[in-house]
Amino acid sequence: MIENPFLFCPQCGSPGGEFLRHHEYRCSVCGHRYFHNVAAAAGILARDVEGRFLFLRRGMEPARGLLGLPGGFVDPGEGVTEAVKREVREELGAEISSPVFLDGYPNRYAFSKIWYHTLDLYFTADILTPQAQWTLDAQEVVGLVWMLPEQVDETELAFQSLRQMWHDWKAGRWEVKQANRKLTR
Ligand SMILES: [Zn+2]
Repeated sequence: MIENPFLFCPQCGSPGGEFLRHHEYRCSVCGHRYFHNVAAAAGILARDVEGRFLFLRRGMEPARGLLGLPGGFVDPGEGVTEAVKREVREELGAEISSPVFLDGYPNRYAFSKIWYHTLDLYFTADILTPQAQWTLDAQEVVGLVWMLPEQVDETELAFQSLRQMWHDWKAGRWEVKQANRKLTR
């Protein structure tokens, strides 16, 4: 896993180059600079009528087999509300209510041998589509896990940002309302 995204300068092709403060590539030959900037991701914390939270068992690396939330990366040109709705639609085939922002936390995400620094933005939202009508993206999601707070094992949570958000929820930073309709079954 490497931090510097370039083995060679993308402008002049020289090998090496410095990588500063986890995001700035600088070529010592031609002076080219590139910022490997923080990427934005968004996810939702959803609760059912019985007070259980929805987690997804990850089918893909990184953190394959661990638990994440519905969500994903924000595309270029996309707003975060649009992004989180799109990601839930793609992963679960479900629609959600207007997401309410909780907080954003840093994360480090390894993909294709490169480290990405991300800012993971967490929201709460109700899932509007009954679970019987969901169509899961079988590659990304290998299981749905509904858990009461006391059933959540933090070592199973996929990302540092998710563990931090979960801690803040448990410390009472925000209310995450239970859905008023039964989703499961
Ligand atoms: Zn160069």
